[in-house]
Amino acid sequence: MKKLSLKIKLTLLYTFFMILATAAVLAILFSLSSREILASTQAKLERRVQDSVDDITLQGGELKVDSDFYSVTRDVYLSLYDSNMYFLYGKVPYGFDQQPEISDGETRRIREGSLEWYVYDMSFRLAENYTVYVRGITSVTEAEENFSVTIRFAIILFPLMAVVTAFIGYRSTRRTLLPVKKMIYTVQKIRADADLSQRIGLEGGGEKSRDEIYSLAWTFDDMLDELEEVFKREKQFTSDVSHELRTPVSVILAQCGECLEDNTLSERQRCQIELIEQKAKNMSRMISQLLFLSRADQGRQPLNRERVNVSELTQMAAEEQQMLADAEGNDVTVSCRIEPDITAYVDESFYIRLVVNLISNAVSYSTKGGSVLVTLSLLNGELLGSVQDNGVGIAKEDQAHIWERFYRADTSRSGGSHSGLGLSMVKWIAQAHGGWVKVESSPGKGSIFSFGLPADKDLTDTVNEKQKL
Ligand code: ADP
Repeated sequence: MKKLSLKIKLTLLYTFFMILATAAVLAILFSLSSREILASTQAKLERRVQDSVDDITLQGGELKVDSDFYSVTRDVYLSLYDSNMYFLYGKVPYGFDQQPEISDGETRRIREGSLEWYVYDMSFRLAENYTVYVRGITSVTEAEENFSVTIRFAIILFPLMAVVTAFIGYRSTRRTLLPVKKMIYTVQKIRADADLSQRIGLEGGGEKSRDEIYSLAWTFDDMLDELEEVFKREKQFTSDVSHELRTPVSVILAQCGECLEDNTLSERQRCQIELIEQKAKNMSRMISQLLFLSRADQGRQPLNRERVNVSELTQMAAEEQQMLADAEGNDVTVSCRIEPDITAYVDESFYIRLVVNLISNAVSYSTKGGSVLVTLSLLNGELLGSVQDNGVGIAKEDQAHIWERFYRADTSRSGGSHSGLGLSMVKWIAQAHGGWVKVESSPGKGSIFSFGLPADKDLTDTVNEKQKL
């Protein structure tokens, strides 16, 4: 029951209560009708017997019975007895073979085999010493049978009615819940495309037909309007701040360079200025990453695709990272397994950024004596690459978040150029090319970052990845 959709649950509930209510109403109706039918059969019998006295007369001491007495009117059979219960005239229904005692003025219900009868006796005094008895007999079974036909019809119609009720219930529930379905679809699309510009946009339903679900959908759309506005402002703010910081950071870097040319500086002063220069360089890198991402957000980051030899680019990036690692004294070996001369239709500088970010991360998060393996191959028109290290690894709960901006799973490495923006750029670049990127990692053992990019022009042309969130 828990797994059923709300639509089915509501339909079942609705149908169940409809069946219950109808069954109760029918039961009450049948019981009242049954009682009513029996009462009216009884009344008919008594009236017929009472009316029959007009057909019996005493003429010159002789008993005369009108022919009407013999007719079976209103299903009532009449018979006439003398005071010794001797049958004189009339008819007794077929199947009624008993001769019950006279019981004046009382209706009795008598069963004989499978049949049941109402019997009503009435005395009629014709003269001073001459009393006869009129007996009326009518079938209870027949009266009940007419009624049982109705019950049988009801029993046949009842399941049919349940099916019709369930069908109507399902249709109307589906219509009522349609806005909810649209809301779910919109939310899923917002999540999948990371696009806040989507709206539920329920149509129809003027001011009067605003039910709760419509109101919820409109409120949700209003909230999305506001959220989109806030995000836009936030992106604009990031872009403005980055632009504003670019100039002072360039000035700091230029000034540091000039100061370091001064030979009169003491060792201590030189160290201090070098530190300032290093931090300013990190800051400058972060600013350019922020500008990159904010341009991407605003759809102002065009891809200049051309056919390039990605094997060579990847090899060069790996060698460069090995040199940097050596220069920084990192005891890490970067090796490659790259299929030669793979060409792909990509933006060269973005592709280099992607590979460099992955390799530099692998080097940074490697332990002493670690090794990094860079692979590249072409499979069914898809460029498949991976950067594998045997470093610190990433905890399961962090793996989904490392692509978010400024998210850093390993905050212990706060020095240097770790800003938490690198993988956001990697993801954007892969998606902008119509590709993907993923991570497999286990803490203490290492990580594999893999990516796939369509290598051919036709495949990449259609892709215009938005990353607005
Ligand atoms: P950062 O500048 O901090 O490296 P990134 O966006 O490149 O930012 O990476 C986000 C986080 O993902 C890092 O802070 C780190 O915790 C984790 N990470 C990235 N690459 C690796 C790796 N190869 N091994 C272990 N952790 C990694």
